[in-house]
Amino acid sequence: GGAVRFNAVRFGYDPEREILHGVSFAVPAGKTLAIVGPSGAGKSTIARILFRFYDIQGGTVSIDGHDISAVTQQSLRAAIGIVPQDMVLFNDTVGYNIGYGREGARQDEIEAAAKAASIHDFIMSLPQGYDTRVGERGLKLSGGEKQRVAIARTLLKDPPVLVLDEATSALDSRTETEIQTVLRDISRKRTTLVVAHRLSTVVDADEIIVLDAGRIVERGRHADLVRAD
Ligand code: ADP
Ligand code: ADP
Repeated sequence: GGAVRFNAVRFGYDPEREILHGVSFAVPAGKTLAIVGPSGAGKSTIARILFRFYDIQGGTVSIDGHDISAVTQQSLRAAIGIVPQDMVLFNDTVGYNIGYGREGARQDEIEAAAKAASIHDFIMSLPQGYDTRVGERGLKLSGGEKQRVAIARTLLKDPPVLVLDEATSALDSRTETEIQTVLRDISRKRTTLVVAHRLSTVVDADEIIVLDAGRIVERGRHADLVRAD
């Protein structure tokens, strides 16, 4: 499951000032769509609309054919996982941070959830161990480690739709490459929307849309867009 469709979506934070001027795209279940474009184009707004943080003023948004305006906030949250740009960790154990949302999750529960979500190997590769207190290590936790904890926390919910919001932008290039490899593996089985600044980070996407000032100005695969440059 997890097919996402935006059909002629119009939206403005202020109804007097429209930000998205009729945006349409479809992501088949299991495929990856990348949204690129300059700052202010409306990329993050698309992600927020998918979460229904805001109501749209025209068009429709659906997941697996269900209009999201008729879906409860709770089931939307179960359907969509987000890997945020900046990860804020709780001053607690890695296990607590990963299990956040499942109050008091124990290690065996986390492991069962990890197996169910097919990310057990990934979780086990976290360098910290479940019982390490994040706060004790403090600044020693590298950007890449934090990002992996963030990814694990999101994936434990096993959401059919994944939203990656510039997930690797704050990392050094070696760590960025590592995380991208992890994300590529993980996103292969899920519908994924990647919000990215740079074309070079979304080479593998099934489709790339280029957004500019709230309009899709180009779409295609990476090779098509690079040729057009
Ligand atoms: P990088 O090389 O760092 O990956 P690019 O120079 O390819 O980044 O892209 C920089 C900006 O230009 C991005 O915002 C991207 O959306 C835009 N861009 C790049 N190629 C195209 C294209 N073919 N059509 C429209 N916009 C493009
Ligand atoms: P991007 O993610 O491509 O950088 P955004 O979706 O964040 O772009 O922003 C698109 C436009 O919406 C910009 O003009 C921005 O100033 C405006 N915008 C973003 N968030 C808000 C908000 N909460 N209230 C009002 N305007 C906003």
